[in-house]
Amino acid sequence: MLGQLLLAASGSRLVRRCVSGFPPTRKVVGRFVAGESAQEARDVIERLRDAKLAVTVDHLGEETRDARAAEATANAYLSLLEALRPLELASRGEVSVKLSALGQRLDDRMALEHARDICAAAAAGGSTVTLDMEDHTTVDSTLAILRKLREDHPATGVAIQAYLFRSEQDCRDLAAEGSRVRLVKGAYREPASVAHQGRSAVDRAYVRCLRTLMAGNGYPMVATHDDRMIAITELLADRFGRTIGDHEFQMLYGIRTDLQEALAGAGHTVRVYVPYGDDWYGYFMRRLAERPANVAFFLRALGGK
Ligand code: FAD
Repeated sequence: MLGQLLLAASGSRLVRRCVSGFPPTRKVVGRFVAGESAQEARDVIERLRDAKLAVTVDHLGEETRDARAAEATANAYLSLLEALRPLELASRGEVSVKLSALGQRLDDRMALEHARDICAAAAAGGSTVTLDMEDHTTVDSTLAILRKLREDHPATGVAIQAYLFRSEQDCRDLAAEGSRVRLVKGAYREPASVAHQGRSAVDRAYVRCLRTLMAGNGYPMVATHDDRMIAITELLADRFGRTIGDHEFQMLYGIRTDLQEALAGAGHTVRVYVPYGDDWYGYFMRRLAERPANVAFFLRALGGK
């Protein structure tokens, strides 16, 4: 219930203004967001690299219908990739992109062109791009853009949300040689007409999707902090003869750091999703919605404790 309210608030301009403008909020945001500037993100990435963790870096920003804002986001990614080059991201890093921030709602060809530029810049630095998945109305467009991007940049990846009914079929379509699929449970408020509701139905759907990806020929990116999903991944890897290098785990910056380090210490590739930038509101509210305990943490921090 609280989670649903927070997800609803994540789309409210009024709540956005109140929360974003409140100075103590920033302290709490710092638990989930690597900073507002590329330099702050770079410091975090260096720390993670030293802890043997790979990264996928997200320049925070969500839906825009303004062509100039979309271009500014694309330029921010190009500058980010340039700034990260000296860190030799090639083997350990990539960027994550939200197509809605590149103008997908305005004109999906515009989003495609911006995404192409970002993929080309990433490839020039030996790195790759993964497309985040947003609400269910964007999935067809995102997968169509993915197909076009993969013509020139076959390593471009995509997130698939297990909670959507359609995702089992999407996983079957994508479980092929060369494809990189990040499987997530799903973070948006979706109606019962398109998505499983309730934790156990979503978890069961996640396992079905995971099985398809692990049995296939692609490169599964298992994005979860859920111990049971991680244990099931290891069982499925055994069953389908996968080795440690042909799939990876992904987690969000600031969440279950202990688990991230333990898996990396055991030899797994663990990629941390590192968001940075000043447009952190939507991302932050989704993290609060995922776990009521985060709200208590938020309220304590606001109270100065
Ligand atoms: P849950 O069952 O939600 O959580 C399992 C355990 O993880 C919890 O018991 C708790 O210990 C811990 N945990 C989970 N969330 C939190 C939190 N916020 N704070 C503290 N502890 C927590 N969603 C999309 O819709 N589109 C995307 O493109 C997308 N990209 C993602 C990329 C990565 C790398 C990751 C890890 C997640 C992404 N997500 C995305 C979010 C995802 O859909 C889930 O909302 C989120 O990962 C929580 O689900 P879970 O699998 O960790 O399981």
